[in-house]
Amino acid sequence: MRVLLLNPPGRELYVRDYFCSKTTKSNYHFHPVDLLALSGTLSIDHHVAVLDCIAEGLAPEAARARIDTEDPDVVLSLVGSVSWEEDREFLRRQADRGRRVFAIGDVLHEDAEQRLAEEPWLEAILDDFTTRDAIHLLSREYGSLLRATWRCPDGSIVQRNEPRRGREHRLPRPRHELFPTRGYRFSFARQTPFATVLTDYGCPWPCTFCVISTLGHSTRPIEDVLEEVDELRARGTRELFVADQTFGVRRDRALELCAAFRERDLSWTAFTRPDLADDELLCAMRAAGCHTLIMGVESADDAVLDACHKGYATDAVREAFERAHAHGLRTVGTFVVGLPDETEGSLERTLDFALELDLDFMSLNVAVPRFGTPFRADAIADGLIDPEELVMDQSGATIALPTNSLDRKEVARLKRRMIRRFYLRPSWLLRRVRDVSGPREFFAQAREGLALLSRNA
Ligand code: SF4
Repeated sequence: MRVLLLNPPGRELYVRDYFCSKTTKSNYHFHPVDLLALSGTLSIDHHVAVLDCIAEGLAPEAARARIDTEDPDVVLSLVGSVSWEEDREFLRRQADRGRRVFAIGDVLHEDAEQRLAEEPWLEAILDDFTTRDAIHLLSREYGSLLRATWRCPDGSIVQRNEPRRGREHRLPRPRHELFPTRGYRFSFARQTPFATVLTDYGCPWPCTFCVISTLGHSTRPIEDVLEEVDELRARGTRELFVADQTFGVRRDRALELCAAFRERDLSWTAFTRPDLADDELLCAMRAAGCHTLIMGVESADDAVLDACHKGYATDAVREAFERAHAHGLRTVGTFVVGLPDETEGSLERTLDFALELDLDFMSLNVAVPRFGTPFRADAIADGLIDPEELVMDQSGATIALPTNSLDRKEVARLKRRMIRRFYLRPSWLLRRVRDVSGPREFFAQAREGLALLSRNA
């Protein structure tokens, strides 16, 4: 069959992947990991094309013309709560042209049967991009499906949600070569071109606000990852964004992967948790070419970390960032602001903590009730959000929730002020200029910085 993997067009620079969707916080746009994984799985038996309308900057009319030229039997599309009204209109028109439409995304991660009942143009919803479910849906072998919701030829709707079994999953090599060569940008890349690589799936920790905590966890065999990386190297790509949400969940595997990366002269960025970032792991990552480490700080308040089930306290955060700096890594701290007990004073303390940690970059995420999370269930139970309201921007550009003492406007104003106070420090600007590796990185970072500040003016 002819299958089109689609990131649909949008009015804004949307980031839709991994059961999350938002407008970009600055100007970044990396390869959607769902489509990367599916490109490998489906290419084994089918003709696969990729159209990323966001990367290519395609308007809906131009996107429709490109799809007509490709003339796929099936469109498998990302969708997002940030763009749900646009996505459903665009995809409905594809179904009107006789194409089967499958979709994956945050807005379909909860109440999938109800969504399918409401959207007659939609044949199936995938709830895991690492399975062979897409292949089984194409051939209507429903008995083999693991985590999907689908409409049978007789119109009935069926859901299957098998628990994830085993610690590993195999994935045929993602077909990076099918993706556009231009239009992807990553704030922390030190070279171009860069590629996005996922060596595991999900995360085993139970942080209440995080959709990744709802996916279970499994890893890819190292030989599969290296086959993908070696193919990228052969095509001239040595810069990687390792999109694992927590690098080093399995210590032995992480060290083995680092040793293999070290032999391949790579340059890369990764996420991990402060309580995993000990000297052994950081030393191995740095030696393997990791230059930038992103870790969750979330809050300066231990009670908030406890309430979110983070599983570590601020002392662990402080020590992990000190170690990362000692190993010569650039650091990015991610924060969640606007949780129910947030006040103007707690936001001040969060900014002070970010400054104390001497971060190279601060990433502020506004608490949003992501589909499928305990945080969303609590917000619905407390009457803070309408469960029928499906449109939501997870970037924090629009604030989804008030706190107990701040309304939405105040949260937005205080968040913008924190960003300006962090990034407009002369000492920080001087450090960035000294840190860049050359004119290309200088201009890329300047573009990202200006985009971030213009969104937070
Ligand atoms: S450790 Fe990070 S990725 Fe894992 S559940 Fe918590 S916030 Fe999500």
